[in-house]
Amino acid sequence: MESHIVKIKSIGKVTHDVVRIAIEKPVGYTFTSGQATEVAINKKEWEEERRPFTFTSLPDDDHLEFTIKTYPERKGVTNEILNLKAGDELILHDVWGAISYKGEGVFIAGGAGITPFLSIFRYLKSKNEINNNLLIFGNKTRADIIHEEELKSFLGNAFINILSREQVAGYAHGRITETFLKAHITSFNKPFYVCGPPPMMDAVQIQLANLGVADNLLVVEI
Ligand SMILES: Cc1cc2nc3c(=O)[nH]c(=O)nc-3n(C[C@H](O)[C@H](O)[C@H](O)COP(=O)(O)OP(=O)(O)OC[C@H]3O[C@@H](n4cnc5c(N)ncnc54)[C@H](O)[C@@H]3O)c2cc1C
Repeated sequence: MESHIVKIKSIGKVTHDVVRIAIEKPVGYTFTSGQATEVAINKKEWEEERRPFTFTSLPDDDHLEFTIKTYPERKGVTNEILNLKAGDELILHDVWGAISYKGEGVFIAGGAGITPFLSIFRYLKSKNEINNNLLIFGNKTRADIIHEEELKSFLGNAFINILSREQVAGYAHGRITETFLKAHITSFNKPFYVCGPPPMMDAVQIQLANLGVADNLLVVEI
């Protein structure tokens, strides 16, 4: 298995608990939008602690980017990431992942599950091919929405936010349900891209099956 030690070029906050890290790109390192790699911090006692993160830069960019939700209370890798600064090093491993763009469809994300879709939408925007894709993005509160302005600029009215723990004018409130999906989606015969925390993934996949989405139209990480 390959590994690459790379320097952090910059690191900064995107929301109250999400950081963006730009890093050097190893020569010959390639991925497609939606894919991920395992990342470790190149510091004593952290080199073997690998965690998967999705590239949010474009495949042709001269650097790599990750967009990482941090969990300080777990005292794990994402907490340690909060202590990193430009010049510190990460260890990257092989590229993998089943999520890739398979044509116009509906994207359903929860929280940090937006990262593969952020990557795909940035790619589609760069090709001027946002077309009729729809994004449904579930979060606890408005402050948790990652890159809201950017996604809005890509998708306009085809970007629907739903907040489970806050009522805000112009934003749906509650959890994603079959009724909610039926109200916003006109056809269930197209690709459905789903990424989020396991309980949300389970619930949404059952809802989509009940709404008639064929298994071969589901694009999920396996
Ligand atoms: C393919 C893939 C791609 C991913 N891409 C991204 C991405 O781009 N951006 C992103 O933000 N995330 C992404 N994730 C999720 C990310 O990998 C995890 O958030 C990360 O591994 C958490 O690491 P950690 O060491 O901070 O915490 P963990 O390793 O989850 O936890 C450390 C310790 O905390 C405790 N713990 C675990 N879960 C909980 C909990 N729910 N409550 C309390 N304590 C707990 C356990 O004791 C655990 O050993 C991706 C996941 C996958 C599978």
